[in-house]
Amino acid sequence: MSRKKHSSDIKPLEVVKYGHPALRSKGRKIEKIDDSLLRLAEEMLATMYEEEGCGLAAQQIGRSIQLAVIDVIPAMENRPSRAWVNGREIEVDSIMPLVMINPKIHSVGEDRDVDVEGCLSIPGLQEEVDRPARVRVVCQDLSGETLDFESEGLLARAAQHEVDHLQGILFIDHLPPDILKPHQPLLRKLQAKALDF
Ligand SMILES: [Zn+2]
Repeated sequence: MSRKKHSSDIKPLEVVKYGHPALRSKGRKIEKIDDSLLRLAEEMLATMYEEEGCGLAAQQIGRSIQLAVIDVIPAMENRPSRAWVNGREIEVDSIMPLVMINPKIHSVGEDRDVDVEGCLSIPGLQEEVDRPARVRVVCQDLSGETLDFESEGLLARAAQHEVDHLQGILFIDHLPPDILKPHQPLLRKLQAKALDF
């Protein structure tokens, strides 16, 4: 799987916006990695690059399954990431683009990190989100192999944001009410538009 090359018939998909019910649904566990899943992962990567996001969850293209993709390399210069496998630091690009199937995540240590987040499903809203600074992710990759890594920086943040999506959780759910309040008109507008479909 390459960042730059996609089979010619792989096309970006439509990203659903705030108010679409899929965004509040918990993804089903993926039992079988078949051709249609491989294709969906390629389409999700194409969608993420098209929209210039650093991650995309299946819920964002209207599917309730445990599948998310991440690529932090385009953002690396301004928002660095680090990763470790078995306690040894690895090159982050060696695991990019990252396709996470049935991911589990938990924080490592007590450190917190505050940084700006946005979401392709909530265009026009960016806010600082407080999250654990370091996380461990265990998931399957597209060949069904277990991928088990720890990360910090943007990768740790993106992994938490995407795994949240797979549980029907949005980054705005982490914001204090007083920070979220001024954004309510935008959210209501997105919601009204989503219900129009
Ligand atoms: Zn998002």
